[in-house]
Formats: sequence, structure tokens, C-alpha cells
Amino acid sequence: MGIIGGGPGGLTLARVLATRGITATVFELDEHPLARPQGGSLDLHGDSGLRALREAGLEAEFNAVARYDDQGDALYDSQGTLHFQHNEASDGDRPEIDRTQLRSLLLDSLPAERIRWGSKVSAVEPLPDGRYRVAGPAGTLGAFDLVVGADGAWSKVRPLVSPATPTFTGVLFIELQIDDVDTRHPAVAELLPRGKLSVVGKSQGLIAQRSSHGHVRAYFMFRVSEARLREGVVDTASPARAREQLKALLPGWAPSLLTFIDASNDTMAARPIIALPVGHRWTHRPGVTLLGDAAHVMPPFSGEGVNMAMLDGAELALALAADADWSRAVKGYEEAMFERAAAAAAGAMQGLDFVSDHALQHVLEHFRVLQRELAAAGPH
Ligand SMILES: Cc1cc2nc3c(=O)[nH]c(=O)nc-3n(C[C@H](O)[C@H](O)[C@H](O)COP(=O)(O)OP(=O)(O)OC[C@H]3O[C@@H](n4cnc5c(N)ncnc54)[C@H](O)[C@@H]3O)c2cc1C
Repeated sequence: MGIIGGGPGGLTLARVLATRGITATVFELDEHPLARPQGGSLDLHGDSGLRALREAGLEAEFNAVARYDDQGDALYDSQGTLHFQHNEASDGDRPEIDRTQLRSLLLDSLPAERIRWGSKVSAVEPLPDGRYRVAGPAGTLGAFDLVVGADGAWSKVRPLVSPATPTFTGVLFIELQIDDVDTRHPAVAELLPRGKLSVVGKSQGLIAQRSSHGHVRAYFMFRVSEARLREGVVDTASPARAREQLKALLPGWAPSLLTFIDASNDTMAARPIIALPVGHRWTHRPGVTLLGDAAHVMPPFSGEGVNMAMLDGAELALALAADADWSRAVKGYEEAMFERAAAAAAGAMQGLDFVSDHALQHVLEHFRVLQRELAAAGPH
């Protein structure tokens, strides 16, 4: 089997397959595991990401690096008034892990020869014998009975099953990073002692989150038109200029909240938030399927993307291990995944209200629901 993409979804699939004695080859465009930063902290959810890790037999490895004590939440408005705080360490079942740690623990669990690094897939084509040819810019990379597109939002496999492509949701994230907050930026550390901080303004917002080793990733959020997006909203290639532009875009914001901009390092990125249509599905085609963002990229507000991708990977592997008729197994996986992803995507689209004129009430209600869930889940 060929898996295109070595993200959380593709690697979970490869690992759960390996534990059931099925060999797969992962084609990953990165040259090596540390070729690019993998992103910030993730919270894994009990019934999806954590369940996938259990199926992968990696619970102990996960618990060795997970941060169960990093689940705090605070909600401010843009004038700096605190509206909600939840600072209980070790509550609930949503432990945090850095993306790089998650990728490493999945990679360490797989034989090195199963990952083909530096393998950019440019096309997947049907062959007369029913298999699929996986091609890169320099020629054939392999031919397989089953090819799984785990290659993210701009999947090269998706066109085989669906004409859908992601569209811009109207929300732009500007991603900033802050190093060593506890020693170098005490004002930021005081506002964000653990976990996550959210700020809602009028059609603007901020989510800042701690990773391990005092690192913080902050996303300033704006509603912008496609035309404005094309022109460029913030010049992230010129960090000093970008900081000034960001502040100019946030009139009336409390100076304390703008410290996240002053404290940021020079690694910045503009991330337009894109999504496939809610309920995206396709007619089953033997020999090809998709998982994770390739199947259902959605806005990141509910923190479901990685969790869904990992659950897809685990569920697909379990289906293939349980049924020698792989076409039937994939079809069963797809039907369940379509339902699951449609529900998650609908919730994620509602999350776009975080960046709206009526955001405060919407977000407060979300936090109250989350607190009730945490209370019900009890201490770890
Ligand atoms: C700003 C932002 C914040 C987010 N925050 C969260 C969060 O807090 N929690 C959460 O759960 N989700 C979050 N998400 C969503 C999450 O990142 C994705 O849902 C998740 O990474 C999907 O996993 P995946 O394995 O399907 O795809 P990806 O993580 O996109 O992995 C795809 C892999 O395929 C490789 N690849 C791509 N194209 C090719 C090719 N042509 N050939 C070979 N390899 C290829 C890529 O290099 C990559 O390694 C966030 C997303 C964004 C944009």
C-alpha cells in the first residue's frame, strides 16, 4: 500500500497497519523529519486522537511527553477585560503535545525504510492492471493496489475521487512565535501562565498557546476579503514592518495584549483559513481513498483537525486488517468517516464566529460548555 503524506494522519495509518502486520510505504515531501517546524501545541481528544494512539500502542510513549498540566484557558476582550478563566492544572482528558513530539513518536515506532523522505508526489494515475502509479517530478515512485491520500489540504490524490477544492473562509491568521516567555517576556508569561489565551475583538481576535520549553505561538485573526488577501495584509517577510502593520490593524486593543506582538521573534507566517465543503464525500473508487485534511480540511477553531486525521488513520487501518476484501473495507471506512467529518466540519465552521462582531457571547458559551465537559471528565 502507498500512503502519500507523512503527517499525523498518514503516520498513524502506517503505524496501526504495522501493528497488525500490514506493510505500507509512506511518501513524504519533506527531505527529513526536521526539515521544517511542525507547528505548535495540540490537544488530543479522548475519543479521537488519544483513541488512535491507543490503537497504535503508543500510549506510554505519549504519556512520557504529554502535558496534562497545560490545559488552562482565559478569555479577554480587546480592551483587556478578563471574562473567563480556567486554570486548574491536570483537569480533563485533553492533554497537550508539541507537533514535533507527536511526529517523532510516530516516526520512532516505524521502521526507517518505510518512510521515503524527499518524495514529492505530483500525480497518481490508474494502471491497466487495476493498480495505481505514484509519480514524482522525476518519474515513477511506485505502483500499489491501494493508494491513500494523506497529503493534506492540497492533496494530489483527491482529484481521482472528487473535483472539490478548498476555498478561503474569509478569515486570515497571522502567526507569531515567542521564545522563552518565562525568562525573557514576563508580561506575556503573566497573561499566559499555562495553556491557552483567547481575545475577542470586533471581527478580530487572538489565540495564543504555550508549547513546551516556554515557547508561545500566537495567532492574530482578521476578517479579510479575497481581494485584500491577494494584495497582502501583513508583510510577514519584513518582521519589524509586520509588527507595526499588525498594531495599526488593532486600534483600541489594550497595550498589555499587544505585548504578544512586541515579544515575537522574526518567524512569522500568514495563514489564510481554508475549508472543503461541509459534508464533502465521494463515490467509492476501488484502490484509492483519502484521510485527514485531504478528505475534510476545516477551520482549526475546534482543534479537531489532527484528532480527526489520526482517527481516520487508525479506523482505516483497523478496517483493512479486519477484512481481506480491501475495497469493501475502504468503503466501510469512508461511510463512517464522511459522517464523522461532516459533524466536525459543521462545528468548525461555526467556530469562524470567533472572528465576528458578536464573538464574545459566542465564545463565552463555548467556554462554559467546555468547562462542564472538563468537570464531567474529572481529574486525569
Ligand atoms: C493555523 C492552524 C492551526 C491549527 N491548529 C490545530 C490544533 O490546534 N489542533 C488540531 O487538531 N488541528 C489544528 N490544525 C489543523 C491541523 O493542522 C490539520 O488538520 C492536520 O495537520 C491534518 O493532518 P493530515 O495528516 O491530514 O495532514 P497534514 O498535517 O497537512 O500532513 C500532510 C503531509 O503530507 C505531506 N505532503 C503534502 N503534499 C505532498 C505531496 N505532494 N507529496 C508527498 N507528501 C506531501 C506534507 O509535507 C505533510 O507532512 C490547525 C491548522 C492551522 C492552519
